[in-house]
Amino acid sequence: MAVHAHPDDESSKGAATTARYAAEGVEVLIVTCTGGERGDVLNPSFEAPEGHEFESVEGRLAVRRLEMAAAAEALGVRQHWLGFVDSGLPEGDPRPPLPEGCFALVPLEEAAAPLVELVREFRPHVMTTYDPSGGYPHPDHIKCHEVSVEAYRAAGDADRYVVEGGAEAWAPAKLYYNHGFSLDRLRAVHEAMEGAGLESPFGDWIESRAAREIPEREVTTRIEVAPYFARRDAALTAHASQIDPDGFFFAVPRDIEADVWPTEEFELADSRVPTDLPETDLFAGLREESA
Ligand SMILES: [Zn+2]
Repeated sequence: MAVHAHPDDESSKGAATTARYAAEGVEVLIVTCTGGERGDVLNPSFEAPEGHEFESVEGRLAVRRLEMAAAAEALGVRQHWLGFVDSGLPEGDPRPPLPEGCFALVPLEEAAAPLVELVREFRPHVMTTYDPSGGYPHPDHIKCHEVSVEAYRAAGDADRYVVEGGAEAWAPAKLYYNHGFSLDRLRAVHEAMEGAGLESPFGDWIESRAAREIPEREVTTRIEVAPYFARRDAALTAHASQIDPDGFFFAVPRDIEADVWPTEEFELADSRVPTDLPETDLFAGLREESA
């Protein structure tokens, strides 16, 4: 079970990993906390599909649902909406208050309840989410972390989140945080592109990130996923309102990426089964043959 804040996050964080596991026969469920209805159009060449518009909240919700369905199909996974309202990314100084009723403002127990129920129904062995910083300072990403940790901890306790006629308690065995674009990865790709005589778009980005000294999170688990980059790319492109096909996601030639960085990284946040670090499998410690 991969828990994400908005439609498109599942395609930019750990996407190839979900595609790989799905292809290997694992039941993969993407959970999307919000409808993404406060997202702006981030692709200059975007045109709303026939019969749709992106101006109204309803229009944006409908378009993003279509995009999400296409992305899930590209990854070969199932997807479930939790139905919360996108908080938007507050910008300005001082920052404007969050909109009333948005996901980030919902009290934790209320916000986690549908995820706890979903964990009890789907019974995942492994859950993935974001690190405590959200991985990206969006209030919905931080909230996504909080509800995921709460559901991971509480779903196995039959005395918590009691629902009349609800599913039986279930404790997932492992919880992971996705790793986004680490500085090491950016540097490796940047150097490989320059080495190949290509113009890298990452130079300034690396400098500004290095200057801000954002602490790098620990990598405990590397998943080999290069054969699934094409599926990830198809899923990203499916989010046509959000992803510019000429943007930085696609700036790196795929053969270079597969060569210098064929993995996606995770941080094991908690495990209820013994496992040896570093790992190369999110299900390490859970497979019968490895027992
Ligand atoms: Zn997001």
